[in-house]
Amino acid sequence: STILAIESSCDEMSVAILRNEKELLANVVASQIDIHKQYGGVVPEIASRKHVECVSAVLREALRQANITPQDIDAIAVTKGPGLVGSLHVGMQEAKTLALALNVPLIGVHHIAGHIYANNLENTIHYPALALVVSGGHTELVYMRDEFQFEVIGTTFDDAIGEAYDKVGRVLHLPYPGGPVLDKMAHEGEVTYDLPRPLDDGSYNFSFSGLKSAVINLKHNADQRHEEIRGNDLAASFQEVAMDTISSKAIKAARDLGVKEIIVAGGVSANKGLREKMANSEIPAIFPPMKYCTDNAAMIAAAGSVMYRHKMFSSLDISVKPDFDLENESAGK
Ligand code: ATP
Ligand code: FE
Ligand code: MG
Repeated sequence: STILAIESSCDEMSVAILRNEKELLANVVASQIDIHKQYGGVVPEIASRKHVECVSAVLREALRQANITPQDIDAIAVTKGPGLVGSLHVGMQEAKTLALALNVPLIGVHHIAGHIYANNLENTIHYPALALVVSGGHTELVYMRDEFQFEVIGTTFDDAIGEAYDKVGRVLHLPYPGGPVLDKMAHEGEVTYDLPRPLDDGSYNFSFSGLKSAVINLKHNADQRHEEIRGNDLAASFQEVAMDTISSKAIKAARDLGVKEIIVAGGVSANKGLREKMANSEIPAIFPPMKYCTDNAAMIAAAGSVMYRHKMFSSLDISVKPDFDLENESAGK
């Protein structure tokens, strides 16, 4: 099958073309990070307007890179949710138009299913698996009994891990997004600050607001006393506690459930500290290639290709779902 996929849930507009689940013919990503940087975060109205402006060019470039004609396309996959409503609409509208014009099925994909199936591009997922989803909006443990079966067994009670990184980054006056910057700083620092360990309760759930607040308070107190913060050491201390909590919960859950593999997914799967911690797991952990960690359409094409095989098609009158639930996307439901 040849699947054309569109991802536009946040501030990236991306189009990918994937053949036979593994052969990536194109993956064009137009990022707006430089625009949103000046505001310290994504401005939804600007994101959707910029998507409208660039969607045709991104699509044209993907078709050019893939060197195929539109008639070669078997289905159109698109992110249905979750995400920013205005941003999602732009991709959905384009996908519906293409599906109608080419007379091929439309496949509405859950954004997190996409992040998970990014691991199927250069690797193959073995079931039963446990997905550790760590992104800007999600921190979840997802049990996958089989292909496209999602059971959320743990989640965050407050901030997602990526969100906590970005908020800490903002307080330390680092460029947006703070995640990759703090990761780099952490590797140049020492764990010298004593920070609270988040939700160490034996459950599969997470909570990062206490840890985040502890870092923020530390910075405010230092500012008041006109003291300097050792930024690299603070980054290292924050990363150590955060990633130790996440990796130990994931490894415990994987052991309890008897899974074959831990599949790490989402933007924070790029984190070096997390990759190092998971390398010590007795259950093999697989990570997406760095270039497919943050938002891109290749991952939506990867999930869409599996859905195509299961004939999980959408009708042309579906709408975007900003609060789409992953468990509702399981095959056979
Ligand atoms: P979601 O996928 O939950 O809807 P999103 O699409 O906004 O959220 P992603 O694009 O998956 O999130 O990931 C972006 C997040 O990943 C940001 O919060 C960013 O700071 C974080 N991130 C990226 N690289 C790293 C890294 N090396 N270390 C820590 N965080 C990182
Ligand atoms: Fe994402
Ligand atoms: Mg993003």
